[in-house]
Amino acid sequence: MNGGTARLGAARGRLGAPGVRAASGATAACWRRAPRPTAAAAARSARARVVSFKSDPDAAPPAAAVAVAAAPLAPRPAAPNLLPTAGGVVAPRDAGVQLACSEPTYGLRLTYSRAGRPLAGCDRIIARIGHSGWSNTADVELTPSPADPDLFEGAHGIPASQLANPAHAEVQVVFRGVGAGGRECWDNNGGHDWQLSVELAQEGLVLPAERAGPMRALVSSLLLRLDALAAAGLLTAEQFASLRNQAWAQDFALVRAYQTVRDVADDSAVASLLLSRFNFLRRPGLHVVHVASEMVPVAKVGGLGDVVTGLAKAHQQSGILSEVILPKYDCIAYAAIQELRPLRSIEVAFDGRRVATRVWSGVVEGLPVTFLEPSNGMFWRRQFYGAPDDLERFMFFARAALEWLLASGKQPDVLHLHDWQSAAVAPLLAEEFRGRGLTQPRCVFTIHNIAFQGWMTPPLLSKVGLDPDRMARPDAMLDDSRPGFAPGSHDCSLLRGAIAFSDRVTTVSPTYAREVFLPEFGMGAQAILSRHRHKFSGILNGIDNDNWCPEADPFLPAHFSAADRAGKEDCKRLLLEELGLPYTTPNWVLQRQSGGQHQQLQLQQLQQHADQGNGNGNGNGAAARPGRPLLAVVSRLTEQKGLPLIEHGIKTALARGAQVVVLGAASEPDVQRRWEDMARDHGSGPDARIVLRYDEGLAHRIYAAADAILVPSFFEPCGLTQLIALRYGTIPIVNRTGGLADTVRDVADGGVPENARNGFVLNGREEARVQVAVDRAMDAFLDANEWWRGELVARAMAQDWSWSRSAADYLSLYRGAL
Ligand code: ADP
Repeated sequence: MNGGTARLGAARGRLGAPGVRAASGATAACWRRAPRPTAAAAARSARARVVSFKSDPDAAPPAAAVAVAAAPLAPRPAAPNLLPTAGGVVAPRDAGVQLACSEPTYGLRLTYSRAGRPLAGCDRIIARIGHSGWSNTADVELTPSPADPDLFEGAHGIPASQLANPAHAEVQVVFRGVGAGGRECWDNNGGHDWQLSVELAQEGLVLPAERAGPMRALVSSLLLRLDALAAAGLLTAEQFASLRNQAWAQDFALVRAYQTVRDVADDSAVASLLLSRFNFLRRPGLHVVHVASEMVPVAKVGGLGDVVTGLAKAHQQSGILSEVILPKYDCIAYAAIQELRPLRSIEVAFDGRRVATRVWSGVVEGLPVTFLEPSNGMFWRRQFYGAPDDLERFMFFARAALEWLLASGKQPDVLHLHDWQSAAVAPLLAEEFRGRGLTQPRCVFTIHNIAFQGWMTPPLLSKVGLDPDRMARPDAMLDDSRPGFAPGSHDCSLLRGAIAFSDRVTTVSPTYAREVFLPEFGMGAQAILSRHRHKFSGILNGIDNDNWCPEADPFLPAHFSAADRAGKEDCKRLLLEELGLPYTTPNWVLQRQSGGQHQQLQLQQLQQHADQGNGNGNGNGAAARPGRPLLAVVSRLTEQKGLPLIEHGIKTALARGAQVVVLGAASEPDVQRRWEDMARDHGSGPDARIVLRYDEGLAHRIYAAADAILVPSFFEPCGLTQLIALRYGTIPIVNRTGGLADTVRDVADGGVPENARNGFVLNGREEARVQVAVDRAMDAFLDANEWWRGELVARAMAQDWSWSRSAADYLSLYRGAL
């Protein structure tokens, strides 16, 4: 048994930042990095929180003393007057002053004692260092310590952006030794590796005893100086309280900042330095609360649920505090919630009563989520939407969310509202809750689908505490645009309330943001949107690459990637098997392949690619045979999705010998009946299956298995199905509208670079249009199969539709709203 200890400390260093010197002058601005700090300086500036841990208790040899301390890393050596190398961010050169910042990097200092360990006889010792579960591994050769021949030391840097969790650095280490005659051996801590971690989010100051004395005096000096600054009116009460708390907690960054100005007599200079520090510390990122009716994977009806989770996750990774408030439906997927616990009860005034509402918290997809559960059973309906009192349910939810924020004492920077279900938050905040103390938040409202506006008669608004007389005005919630408008009918809408009272309004693609000004798409909201045009924009949705990941999707029977697509063919075979459809390559397909029908191709570049046999032609390991094309539909079955075009597209594909799989859920009874008829007429033989339900796992398997997916929507605010399909190498056939127009470019579109061409585009609502598009896709699959599999699928999979770009756009929008 042994109980060797290891130590790990980390500090956030800003590579290059301390060394940047701004130079102004008439000549070309120049700047250079500061000289590399000496080891002693680095050690002095190390602000390591020291963590002890036990190595493998059963391992026989004594544990190595592995100490990893941290310091701001030395800048990379750079020639004078050079602009920063990759990773640096540079202000525009013509500004006259140049500023460069490099990515924050955590520096690790590592020491290993070989005495009594398996590497005792080795002259060279190399540390293999990884982090976040052995990612980004690097080999670092350690150098012997001059003080102790058994001690080896080395340093390594981890860019903060590479950490899986910005709150922890979890470092894994094993050691390789090279002994006499080049003999190699390893020390992996008895098979357990070294697992060292440090809490980065709580970088408190834990000083060795010998340094504690001066530190205490410094903190006392700071506390007294803060008193003086407050007394001189140089700090507000809030700033004083916050700085005092940080000084009290011996916050390292603040104390060090103070150390540099301790002897400065000018109080206002000291105050401004501390405040710049204070602002940085107080604002590590924005605090954004999404008030939403859906979030994957716990409550999903359509794309809204994907967007809330995907956007909040992307923001969380970039340092924003992202929270979600959700109704606690009884039909929620409880298994996907971790640490679900009741927090407390609040009372929510609604319809003349006080409704006791339980507040729960839980972690979903790594996000902090608050669930609201009113005791009146409004969310115990075994369905998300579709109850006769949906308007009341979601108005209540909006009020309860604000009531909870007030009770919790939180002051988020932004409340991000989604569709009519949380729209009432905006007028309630403006009319009531700001006055009650919720002063900080700005409202951002995202329209995911303008077809749903939450129409109601004005008196209903009084239930949630909004004054119907004040709200039923054209500049507030009154909808005077609808045909047949008459006072007293359904003439207010929640969507209008959110547009009027929010600081920013977005929709989910740039094209849809233009289309909604047309009567055909705007559904009566054109006038109010025009009035608020200055704050309205379109930001394209992304998809959550963790959730939609063909390399590791847990719903798939086989996996694949853009580089190795063989698993896609396995997914196709196994899906057909799952649905009882044959997996064959009929003779007509083979004949067509060999029958020289290439000349029939309408797309010249298809011809070229097929002839050239770009790539390895068989999809990088996929079966060489083309099989029958498999066309998929994964959709809510509703008017918006272009139901007649879906039907016609399916019939066209079947007539061309394709196989078809439809996964759809209909909420309207007549649509359900129509699709049951379709299933009976077309979905039982060897060619097609029509599955009428919501099934997350099956949806994933279909995206992975299909060759093409049909999305001929009449209108589509953004559409996620085509983006998900692209990620799984399934080629979209889409109508040119909304987000479909922004994301899918026809393979024959000479107006865009070739690697942007990723699908087949139709334009219009006539059946003939979908027929042409499906025909073109079938021809391409059958006649240019090598190009399809070898190039088109690879191109589609390589495109990036993740949240990275759009999350940054939302961040700028939030900042603009503050
Ligand atoms: P919308 O939000 O209008 O329904 P989107 O394309 O934005 O359309 O998002 C649809 C989302 O719902 C996608 O994640 C899609 O996979 C999923 N989806 C649609 N229908 C089904 C279904 N029947 N079963 C499982 N998932 C479905």
